[in-house]
Amino acid sequence: MKVSVDRSLCYGSAECAYRVPAVFAFEDGYGVVRPGQEGAGEDPEVAEAAEKCPSQAIVFAE
Ligand code: SF4
Repeated sequence: MKVSVDRSLCYGSAECAYRVPAVFAFEDGYGVVRPGQEGAGEDPEVAEAAEKCPSQAIVFAE
């Protein structure tokens, strides 16, 4: 499963990058998925980061 950040929703709390630094980074005031980590959607830590994202900006797709 693929993971991405919907920049239109992200308000830049940086929590994703703090929780799962191997997958998320914080760039230019937004959370981003690190290049090459787009397929990390199955990772339970990523699921938890999505759950805890205060703006529900972390989204999944098949
Ligand atoms: S946790 Fe959510 S709101 Fe915060 S930087 Fe990450 S995607 Fe954006």
